[in-house]
Amino acid sequence: MTQNPQQPEVNIGLVGHVDHGKTTLVQALSGSWTDQHSEEMKRGISIRLGYADATFRRIPGTDEPECYTVEETDEEGNETEILRTVSFVDAPGHETLMATMLSGAAIMDGAVLVVSATEDVPQAQTEEHLMALDIIGIDNIVIAQNKVDLVDRERAVENYEQIQEFVKGTVAEDAPIVPTSAQQGVNVDLLIQTIEEEIPTPDRDEGEGAQMFTARSFDINRPGTTWEDLSGGVIGGSVVTGKLTEGDELELRPGREVEEGGQTEWRPITTDIRSLQAGGQMVDEVRPGGLCGVGTGLDPSLTKGDALAGQVAGEPGSLPPTREEFTMDVELLDRVVGEDEDTVEEISTGEPLMLTVGTATTVGAVTSARSGEAEVSLKRPVCAQSGAKIAINRRVGARWRLIGIGTLK
Ligand code: GDP
Ligand code: MG
Repeated sequence: MTQNPQQPEVNIGLVGHVDHGKTTLVQALSGSWTDQHSEEMKRGISIRLGYADATFRRIPGTDEPECYTVEETDEEGNETEILRTVSFVDAPGHETLMATMLSGAAIMDGAVLVVSATEDVPQAQTEEHLMALDIIGIDNIVIAQNKVDLVDRERAVENYEQIQEFVKGTVAEDAPIVPTSAQQGVNVDLLIQTIEEEIPTPDRDEGEGAQMFTARSFDINRPGTTWEDLSGGVIGGSVVTGKLTEGDELELRPGREVEEGGQTEWRPITTDIRSLQAGGQMVDEVRPGGLCGVGTGLDPSLTKGDALAGQVAGEPGSLPPTREEFTMDVELLDRVVGEDEDTVEEISTGEPLMLTVGTATTVGAVTSARSGEAEVSLKRPVCAQSGAKIAINRRVGARWRLIGIGTLK
């Protein structure tokens, strides 16, 4: 795993259709992967989170874009100048579910939309992911026109024009388009320059109580580990306000479902922070920004297999309320993304919706629907404050389709 000299300060999503080169591009941007640190936690997180950190650098005295690099030294062995460290959020290869992309979008500060030059534009997820960025309000976007090594000049130009036509009137209308070959390392310097210009590090609030959106959770112990050697459960995600410090107490909401006397209810979980990891190394504290891993005192069976993904973790007593039902303002899309003809019908009472709130995805039944507003009752509660954005998905045919955006009342 690459060591980075700084904590990552910004999260950049990799979105786009399957096989267009998202993961390859992350590898090209994050430089060489060296496996020098075998601590279980680091390895666990890098694999399971599907993310990588990269430190962008500049070679002093060299022209743009050639000066942009991820290498620590230039060709003469002189040290390069550090610009900043970023985290890439890349859904694992098998994940084509919108829910995963939408959960990731909750912690993205900007995105690289990867579009293959070898196919017509748009492919299904190209359009769906762009629409998701649009409604979630991620407007710092760079488009990578990838796989240009596989097409001739004429086809590359034609594809470039298709991309321009496709983004017209969307949030990516003014996004720069950078032709790349992730596999051949073509234009990686220009892509870094463009990301530096288009996706700035947002101002962060470090003042308030710590709050972290959990994107993954896991058990890092090898099978057969003895009880004394067992490591506590690990959660991975992004701090959105405040800061986490080793030794702090930590609360997770909604927590876990407990049954007592025939009644079930959700209770927050409390634990403590045993270790912290960011930028590929162990750290004492984590500030808002890139992705991090938190080693806790929890029983690893609680964190196994992403069981705590979607929860909010932070300073005990300061987290938003747990909601088993809520009312939201609703803004519907004009048409169902990916289905050419279908206009979006109003939401009706009784219908099931898949809702993404922060990094949590849950299914809810509509208990009351009025124009521009809906009340839902959730199968699994979410922890969220009023004003939170909600991606609303409806079942269309065999799958969930994005139909609108809600704002929690
Ligand atoms: P993802 O599904 O978007 O993450 O796509 P991957 O990064 O897994 O890439 C899919 C396939 O395309 C892999 O076989 C890559 O080696 C290949 N690939 C990715 N980028 C390029 C490129 O720029 N040029 C060529 N020729 N192949 C590429
Ligand atoms: Mg991939």
